[in-house]
Amino acid sequence: MRAVGELVRATAAALADLVLPRICAGCGVPGAVLCRGCAGEFAVPHLAQPRRFPAGFPPTVAAAVYDGPVRPAVNAFKEHGRAELARPLGAALALAVAAVRAGVPGAGPGTPVLLVPLPATRSALRARGRDHVAELTRAAVAELRTAGVPAGSGRLLARTGRVVDSAGLSAAQRRANLAGTFTVRPARPAPPGTLLVLVDDVVTSGATLSEAAATLTRTRRSDTPVLAAVVAATPRRTGRRGAAGPPARTPRTG
Ligand SMILES: [Zn+2]
Repeated sequence: MRAVGELVRATAAALADLVLPRICAGCGVPGAVLCRGCAGEFAVPHLAQPRRFPAGFPPTVAAAVYDGPVRPAVNAFKEHGRAELARPLGAALALAVAAVRAGVPGAGPGTPVLLVPLPATRSALRARGRDHVAELTRAAVAELRTAGVPAGSGRLLARTGRVVDSAGLSAAQRRANLAGTFTVRPARPAPPGTLLVLVDDVVTSGATLSEAAATLTRTRRSDTPVLAAVVAATPRRTGRRGAAGPPARTPRTG
């Protein structure tokens, strides 16, 4: 039966290739899920710099600038169900994790990292039917391990369910609104010296990451600072260059 199941899956995959020609999620060119040029846009690790640094914003590395072909590619994965992008975007996240780890004084090749995915809100999970950040985290851990980095993931944070729409709020109101958003879940303690790295898809204001970092720091008495890594960070100034394709609607990000 198992052989039949595999055959069905292989056939379905082959048919999907025929029926749905692969096009680059970044620029729309046929051929690969992400063409070489667009993939290169996901390999520019840099420190994320929100316009106003929220208090307690953790050191955060982004693999890409959320602009140009990066926007449609991230949105194709996040909002349009192109799950095959988990691998390249997970690799980008792995790159950001490796870069943020490299910036910690005293961290070496053997320093372990524990990726802590930002939990989605219940309404986002319902709307998408999947937890795309969890998918990215799994792919990033696999990528890091292949590269010889001792990496794991832990769902240390949960949503308390308290938070509501923060659209239209000022930074201070938003922060107050976010306080108490997260709670720490019981987990086995990580080995000493493990770096906790919050992971998410896109960072914009940094408010959500700051609140998550504060929750972890308060409750875990970690001996190392909490870090963060994301696939992409919104640029400080928008309109630096034209976006490929129609301008993407800005999804709600933190
Ligand atoms: Zn492309």
